[in-house]
Amino acid sequence: MKIYGNEPALERLGQYRRSGKMPHSLLFCGDVGTGKKTLADYTAAMYFCREEDPPCGRCSECRRIYEHIHPDVIYADCGEMSVAELRELLRSSYSMPVEGLMRVYILREFSLANRECQNALLTYLEEPSDRVRFILTASDKNAVLPTILSRTATISTRPLSVEECTEFLKEHGCKEEPRRLAEMFGGNAGLALKAFEDKKGTLYLDCAREYVSAILEYHEYKALAAIQRLPRPKDDKRGPVKDLIIAAGNIIHDAFVTAGGGKASCGCDRELSEKLAEKYSLSVLDAMCEEVRRFSGIVSTVNFNPVLTANAFTAAIFSAAEKELALNMQKSNQKGKIRL
Ligand SMILES: [Zn+2]
Repeated sequence: MKIYGNEPALERLGQYRRSGKMPHSLLFCGDVGTGKKTLADYTAAMYFCREEDPPCGRCSECRRIYEHIHPDVIYADCGEMSVAELRELLRSSYSMPVEGLMRVYILREFSLANRECQNALLTYLEEPSDRVRFILTASDKNAVLPTILSRTATISTRPLSVEECTEFLKEHGCKEEPRRLAEMFGGNAGLALKAFEDKKGTLYLDCAREYVSAILEYHEYKALAAIQRLPRPKDDKRGPVKDLIIAAGNIIHDAFVTAGGGKASCGCDRELSEKLAEKYSLSVLDAMCEEVRRFSGIVSTVNFNPVLTANAFTAAIFSAAEKELALNMQKSNQKGKIRL
C-alpha cells in the first residue's frame, strides 16, 4: 500500500516500530479525507506483518488487512453505534484472537461517539491487554474525552500537497483534470477522489462556487443563473440540484466553521468559504447552515421537485443573508446614536 504524504505520521509510526514500543492505543486525528482510515489499516498491518520491514504489503497478513478480511481486525463506525453495540463488540476482546496473536479494533470517527460510548472504551484502555490494540480515528480531537487522549498516542493527518494529490488522483484512474481537482480541494485526497469517483466531472462544483460567490455578492439573480448552468441529464433530473445544494452547502458549512475559529474541512473552495466567513456573522452563517441541513434532507428524498427545491433553497439562503444587512443597519444606527 503506497501512502501519499503524511510523512510526519509515518515517521512517528516508524519510531514506535524501531523502538519496539507500538502503543496499545493510537488516535489518528485530522480532517475528513486526509488519510486516517488508510493509516489505520497501515498500522494494523504493522502489528501483524512478520516481514523484516513491516508492513510489507505483500504477505498474507498485510493483504487480508488491506482487503478488510482479516478475522482479528475489527472495524466499527462509532458515529452509528449505540453504547450497547459498542460494549458487545469490545467484550469480544476478552476471548482469544481467531488466529492466536492479537486483536486490533479500528474504531472510526470516534469523535462522533457519545460520552457513554467513550466511557465504555475507557474501561478497556485503563487495563490494556497484551492481546488487544485500539486504533481510533477522529476528525475533531476536542470531542474525544481527555481521559482517553491521555491513554492514547495521537498522530495528526494532513492534506497532501497539490502535486502529491495530483499523483494520487492519477494513480486512482483520474485522467481528466487531476490537478484542477487537487487544487479545488486544497490537496485533500479523500474529498478530491470522491468528487472524481462520483463521475460527475467538475461542472457541478463550478456551479456551486458560482452560487456561493453570488451569496457573497448578495446577488440572488446570479445564484439562480448558477443553477441554470447545471448539467441536465435526461435520466437524472434531480441529481444535479442535489449535488449543487450539497456542494454549496459544504462551502457554507466551512465558512461557519471558519467563522467560529475552527478548521474548514469539507468544501471544494477554501478561499471562498473564508471570504464568506469574513462577510457574514456567525449567527447568519448558522442560519444558512440550518437551511442547508433542511434542504439536504429534502434532496435526499426520492421525489423532490428539482426546480421548486432549487428556488426555495435560494430564497431561504438569501433570506438568511438579509439578516446580515439588518444587523449591519442596526450597528450603524447604534453608532449614529453614540455620536449624537
Ligand atoms: Zn506483510
